[in-house]
Amino acid sequence: MKFRSIMDPVKLYSAKEAVVRGLAPDGSLFVPASIPKLPADFFNRLAGMSITEIGFNVAHCFFGEELPEKDLRGVIDRACNFDAALRKLDDQISVLELFHGPTLAFKDFGARFMAELLGYFKRQDETSLTILVATSGDTGSAVASGFYNVPGIKVVVLYPSGKISPIQEQQITTLGGNISALEVEGTFDDCQRLVKEAFKDSKLSTRVGLTSANSINISRLVPQVFYYFRALAQLPELQSKIIVSVPSGNFGNLTAGLIAKQMGLPIEHFVAATNANDVFVQYLATGEFKPRSSVLTLSNSMDVGNPSNLPRIQYLYSNDLAKIRADVETYSFSDKETQAAISEAFAKSKYILDPHGAVAYLGLKKALQKHATAQGIFLETAHPAKFPEALPANVHSQVKMPERLTQYLNLEKKSIRVAARLSEIVKYL
Ligand SMILES: *Cc1c(COP(=O)(O)O)cnc(C)c1O
Repeated sequence: MKFRSIMDPVKLYSAKEAVVRGLAPDGSLFVPASIPKLPADFFNRLAGMSITEIGFNVAHCFFGEELPEKDLRGVIDRACNFDAALRKLDDQISVLELFHGPTLAFKDFGARFMAELLGYFKRQDETSLTILVATSGDTGSAVASGFYNVPGIKVVVLYPSGKISPIQEQQITTLGGNISALEVEGTFDDCQRLVKEAFKDSKLSTRVGLTSANSINISRLVPQVFYYFRALAQLPELQSKIIVSVPSGNFGNLTAGLIAKQMGLPIEHFVAATNANDVFVQYLATGEFKPRSSVLTLSNSMDVGNPSNLPRIQYLYSNDLAKIRADVETYSFSDKETQAAISEAFAKSKYILDPHGAVAYLGLKKALQKHATAQGIFLETAHPAKFPEALPANVHSQVKMPERLTQYLNLEKKSIRVAARLSEIVKYL
């Protein structure tokens, strides 16, 4: 599979070029030159198929020309050494738990796979790389953990000071070694803008071997396709109409789901569930995309005012708004509704949602009102123990803190405070 820039349909890039560069030379996003279809035989075998077997089949479509089977299987086995587990909450609703990785959020899928793949490509040409990543919380921790101690790769994480949860901050700032944490005096959008500015500066970018680990990197997106297949592999009601609700911020997760559908996965349609940061809701309603500053909510990893994957969604649908609307419905929910949903799911099903999963749960319930016979799946993108402050008190007291989270709490925070200006960031690259 070759890759191309969204802006330029002619020039093609190898997977290695697309992954190592992160962004195309014209500053826009890489996309696969076409979306591969998986054969009928694969779908006949899907029921019960493991995450690693699915991962190999899906990743082979994108990277098979450049990684021999044995190497690709090695990458997948090391990156996906935990499952995406589907649990039924009631007759109609299942939750896909994506938090069984080392930092307890779904971004482990993307970050670990990317670390393995970059490490693989880098060993071929022995250059060094600096990963520059902006985070609203979970990306930074997943990337820091995934790349920790990977030889020849330095990681610089930009996060908005005071706007991520204390546990997320511990996960980013306590590793040290090849991981540096810059605490930016600004919002997540400032962090994302600084990353974009750094990439636009081609001299800087070449000098330090800059690459990106945000969901703008295509290698983050591909492993997120795996778990949509894995969800259906565990669903007994495969014949029903299936609706999947995705809690969305930068829309990488939803983009991966839409790619899975175009690869042939029988998902009827998607719900893009957002918090008060609802530019996508406005976009689908009016056809106009108006980015704006993000506002702080309980589901802080979705506090994004300028979702970077929107151009990829438009590309997948040939810029046809009507086609996007046919596959995606979208809603926005307030913090109050989010907390009420957490209380409700706990009372009804004894299930503890995190605030991001709760937004997806709300979106799914809205969609199921219109599709009474459908089977619904919502994605639980983080473990609730990562966001204790956001849970209602009676639910909070029931959360068990997993050990891989507590290990971070006693470590010393090491971060550098910087103003939201590129000249400040450059000093640390
Ligand atoms: C990043 C994140 C999201 C949003 O995912 P996008 O791919 O940016 O839309 C949702 N939930 C959690 C817990 C996250 O960390």
